[in-house]
Amino acid sequence: MIYLDNAATTKVHEDVKNGMVKYLSEVYGNTNSKYYDQAIIAKKALDDARESVAKLINCKPTEIIFTGGASESNNMVLKGIFFKNRNKGNHIVISAVEHSSLIETAKFLSEIGAEITILPVNEKGEISLNDLTNAIKKTTILVSVIWSNNELGTINNIQEISNYVKSQDILFHTDATQAIGKLDVDMQEYKNVDFLSLSAHKFYGPKGVGVLFIRENKYGIKIPIESLIHGGEQEFGLRGGTIATHQVVGLGIAADICKKNLQKNIQILKVQEQKLKDKLNDVFKEKIEINNYWTNRVPGLINITIKGINNAVFLKAISSSIAGSSGSACSNRSLSHVLKAVGMNEEKIKQTIRFSLSPYDDYNNFNDIE
Ligand code: PMP
Repeated sequence: MIYLDNAATTKVHEDVKNGMVKYLSEVYGNTNSKYYDQAIIAKKALDDARESVAKLINCKPTEIIFTGGASESNNMVLKGIFFKNRNKGNHIVISAVEHSSLIETAKFLSEIGAEITILPVNEKGEISLNDLTNAIKKTTILVSVIWSNNELGTINNIQEISNYVKSQDILFHTDATQAIGKLDVDMQEYKNVDFLSLSAHKFYGPKGVGVLFIRENKYGIKIPIESLIHGGEQEFGLRGGTIATHQVVGLGIAADICKKNLQKNIQILKVQEQKLKDKLNDVFKEKIEINNYWTNRVPGLINITIKGINNAVFLKAISSSIAGSSGSACSNRSLSHVLKAVGMNEEKIKQTIRFSLSPYDDYNNFNDIE
């Protein structure tokens, strides 16, 4: 089977899998326990993993908060900033192409007193600075714009957007879940990004673990945010609950591998993508349209429309040989809200498919596609 759904999730890297096992069976101590080796070694593994993720996005280890994945990180930042800033304002700005975990959280907050503005996007999925400028109010407490969307892969100009948001003295969050491993995500370079979400299973780590980056000031004080999970003192008191050491260790190893191979993998994805495009053009000829032919997007993700098909029926029919998707796996909407937002009509959306590649697959079997 040719797996072409790496934007939905990736296969855990062998080194990640091997590194995790020890923390399930041998070193099962609680990272918050003390006195004995089991716990001390587990705590050291937690610290090392934090260091690895910090290196990946070039920030301080103490700016890394482990979560149960990017959905949780997105929930945490929206709810946490809303609850913490009630005296300042209630207005939150997001884009129309955010992941469902962000859109649905915003919807929930609007039911309990938040005012939400959803910025429109152009045909590629980019927001405009002009729309953002017009949306800002005295009561705006947070702007959240996805770095790269999961259906077209289009990259928003996070530098420009975050610089503007900072100039207005407003907090800025970006969901970088689809950008990690495909772009250089560097928190020293992007100094005005206050919060960032990422998820291990999008870059060959395990499912169920992610990060919320929370920037610290020069005195080492984090931007104040309300905790989503109250409980113990884990994660600097911001996320209660016993750390899943094996998951966090897996994320740390995935981060090391990701950092080491980033530039190489970007090149590999570009080559693979061309190969897949050629193959698709070959097989479907004039029946296909590639919807994201622009350069300003992450490599390894092709969004195509095949005239005359129904995407669900088609994907099911080819599923024994090829795994692709009709949109985000996390959305149960029948029609992709991202494709709607970029202006695709219903008929076209139903004929549209996403294929996403992995640099760790050689795709020698592409030639079997007929
Ligand atoms: N944001 C984006 C852009 C995503 O693609 C995903 C996963 N589909 C998520 C958030 C949610 O990540 P997780 O599965 O770790 O909750």
